Amino acid sequence: MTSEGVRPAAVLVEGEKIRAVVSVEKVPAGAQIQDFGDAAILPGLVDSHVHINDPGRAEWEGFETATRAAAAGGYTMLVDMPLNCIPSTSDVAALEAKRAAARGKCRVDWAAWGSVVADNQDHVEALAGAGVLGFKCFLIHPGTDEFTMVTERELRAALPHVVRTGLPLLVHAELAGPIEVATAALGGADWRSYATYLQSRPDEAELSAIRLLLTLCREYRFRLHIVHLATWQALDELRAARAEGLPVSVETCPHYLHFTTEAIADGATLCKCAPPIRSRENRENLWQGLRDGVIDLVATDHSPCPPSMKQLETGNFKTAWGGIASLSVALPVMWTEASRRGFTLRDIARWMAERPSRLAGCGASKGRIAAGCDADLVIFEPEAEFTVTPDRLHYRHAISAYMGEKLRGVVKATYLRGKRVFADEKFQGNSIGREYQP
Ligand SMILES: [Zn+2]
Repeated sequence: MTSEGVRPAAVLVEGEKIRAVVSVEKVPAGAQIQDFGDAAILPGLVDSHVHINDPGRAEWEGFETATRAAAAGGYTMLVDMPLNCIPSTSDVAALEAKRAAARGKCRVDWAAWGSVVADNQDHVEALAGAGVLGFKCFLIHPGTDEFTMVTERELRAALPHVVRTGLPLLVHAELAGPIEVATAALGGADWRSYATYLQSRPDEAELSAIRLLLTLCREYRFRLHIVHLATWQALDELRAARAEGLPVSVETCPHYLHFTTEAIADGATLCKCAPPIRSRENRENLWQGLRDGVIDLVATDHSPCPPSMKQLETGNFKTAWGGIASLSVALPVMWTEASRRGFTLRDIARWMAERPSRLAGCGASKGRIAAGCDADLVIFEPEAEFTVTPDRLHYRHAISAYMGEKLRGVVKATYLRGKRVFADEKFQGNSIGREYQP
């Protein structure tokens, strides 16, 4: 699986790097050979949207468990979101605390996004200098209190700093206004019903946020990245913004491409996330957005929590934690859905490795099988099938919205910088993952 597409090929690895991709006949004499038969060799996936929650909330997840789930899922690099950990990554001291939490615990490589919060404008450029790959902000309350949302005024105060760093700003694009109006109109609705939750977070919340962001992008020319787009209704405006030359990129997540409102049972709070999973028609239109190239990439938004916070007993969508954990199964979920719609592994590699890597500025060494890149490789059996069971999840709490589903494609092995870190359902060797160094 190379940039030219899928073909029988040999990947020549020297130390931590890929030296070349050659036809099988051109493998040098004397090379040590590993034959993966009919399995596909994919670039190690890069997840540009993960909540590792460490330090401070390692009981939700942590570097050890998140990177273990990543290795099992075919990911070789994670970029950690700056919230849900304590402290949130809003200044250099917090970034150093994160580095201390990660040291010696990682099975794959990682890097950090910094935050843009209500009052850290003066830390933005220092964070860039200290090694974050970009920034994340929320236009709505993020669900925890350590991380503050930004108003338009606060965002405007931060944007000149963001522009000077040249790094992307990743935005949770929902505005509170339409959500408050919709929620007030619900009155005494039953919050065990998924329909109630869906109605409380209308498409309009995403649309109005995206319109505001495009206006600001036009004004300040910062690199705008819309995280976890859940409504197809924004696609036309995003396409037009791109045509206009605005530096905007768009991500969606496996859960928006797999689940639909119609299939979510009342009380099934494992499927709660924000923005919400929408209708079947919406899902198919998001797939069309990927096909058309308006949506650039797929990231997991892996956002785990202790089982009690999902409130599985009451099934209350209002109070349950919003977040779906999927690092270990995202690749087979995507392959199951994508192959059904005529996409290829080349598409998967582009959406889940090459483009997230480029977003994070790691494109020269991560996310591609090409000479000079890190030898991050996934051996993937596209025809094999398996059923999601707790022992396959590997993150801290073995709960999953995907439990019991039969999925297509099995990760046989994962290589990080030339070393095998996962094979045949077992972790291999030491925790050699490290922070990505540009
Ligand atoms: Zn997130």
